[in-house]
Amino acid sequence: MSIMVPSTTPALITPGRQALDSALHQLDRAAAHLGLDDGLRTMLATPRRSLTVSVPVRREDGSLDVVQGFRVQHNISRGPAKGGIRFHPATDIHEVTALAMWMTWKCALVGIPYGGAKGGVAVDPSQFTTRELERLTRRYVNEILPLIGPEKDIPAPDVGTDEQTMAWIMDTYSVNAGYSVPGVVTGKPMTLGGSLGRGGATSRGVQIATLAALGRSPEGVTVAVQGFGKVGALAAQYLSDAGCKVVAVSDITGAVHDARGLDIAALRAHAAESGGVHGFAQADAMAHEDLFELDVDVLVPAALEGVITEANAPRIRARLIVEGANGPTTPEADEILAANGTTVVPDILANAGGVIVSYLEWVQNLQACSWSSGDIELKLRELMLSAFDEVKALAAARGLTLRQAAHVIGVGRVAEAHRMRGLYP
Ligand code: NAD
Repeated sequence: MSIMVPSTTPALITPGRQALDSALHQLDRAAAHLGLDDGLRTMLATPRRSLTVSVPVRREDGSLDVVQGFRVQHNISRGPAKGGIRFHPATDIHEVTALAMWMTWKCALVGIPYGGAKGGVAVDPSQFTTRELERLTRRYVNEILPLIGPEKDIPAPDVGTDEQTMAWIMDTYSVNAGYSVPGVVTGKPMTLGGSLGRGGATSRGVQIATLAALGRSPEGVTVAVQGFGKVGALAAQYLSDAGCKVVAVSDITGAVHDARGLDIAALRAHAAESGGVHGFAQADAMAHEDLFELDVDVLVPAALEGVITEANAPRIRARLIVEGANGPTTPEADEILAANGTTVVPDILANAGGVIVSYLEWVQNLQACSWSSGDIELKLRELMLSAFDEVKALAAARGLTLRQAAHVIGVGRVAEAHRMRGLYP
């Protein structure tokens, strides 16, 4: 049995295709380690459902744009599909498939009863007004409506989307159902059944994973963060709050550096006001690419995939990389980092805090109750640290990197679910 993937020529290899190749490479290694048979490996390499839709959007000037949207359910053997929706001009079916696959392993790794999914719309949200974005979101949701639902597939925010997007999705789904269905999305505003702690959950998880991997006092530990959006800005804040010195941060608008440590609260206020970190007067500007090569203890990529490559990996001086983003490191870079003795806390572990608190939000919605922020934080910490300890122990016992160990655990649990359920018919 072979995997059916669209054929590509080198000229057509998109960043999304590269992300999918990375995800398939990681799966292959885990499957070989687990001794999975070829049929099961192929099943895990192929999404259960993939939907590509055309989304017509009426612009403010009356013209009509048609953009592409996607929703992929990679695996639903352990529970409903779960995964964010991304609005980004470069998103394609391959990227969404890779991101859905990583969601499957992530949910299995941290032990929450979900499969993996992802959605995307190939647009640059900064080029749309709020009213256009609302129309686009509602029409996209209508197109993928047969796939989603609180027991089927539960979207959440990702790059370019936020709690307002989730509110529109919840409303569109609910109007179609004829009653309010808060459990259809997570990452919602509090007034619509959102959870305390969800906004900062991924970043809090990054902080927990970083401190666990450091294994020493964070006081004075230097950090560089790529990406200053929902994940990166609060990861920088929480690491700074814990005593680390965040010396450099970048986003799409630029990169800023201060060897004495950036005032992250002031930088967040500046970015909120001006739209990015560029022009922050209390720090020096630096070139984007230099951020990866800084002499820091910890590097946190928290933007997009494929940014740590064989080209820049040899020059990375951080001894610890904690992947806030999904898929930031290519397999070639992984090998270079491992050979250089750099520890990488992989995405499916490091950024799992988001889906953990999404799960807690969904449980609250299903039970029509709400929990305190203390309860949420405790559960988040417990699930993050128990997954971290399991990954670390397996890596040590079998001589694996943390990424390989995390995939062996995640893929192994999904494979076991398939074996126990059997194949219908
Ligand atoms: P976001 O849209 O809120 O922020 C993305 C950030 O990346 C922005 O600051 C943007 O300016 C920056 N960026 C884009 N291109 C860049 C470049 N070339 N150089 C430097 N910065 C650049 O998205 P987010 O929700 O923070 O997601 C970031 C990453 O974290 C993604 O990989 C996403 O899949 C992953 N993630 C997000 C969540 C979540 O809960 N939001 C959960 C798990 C993983």
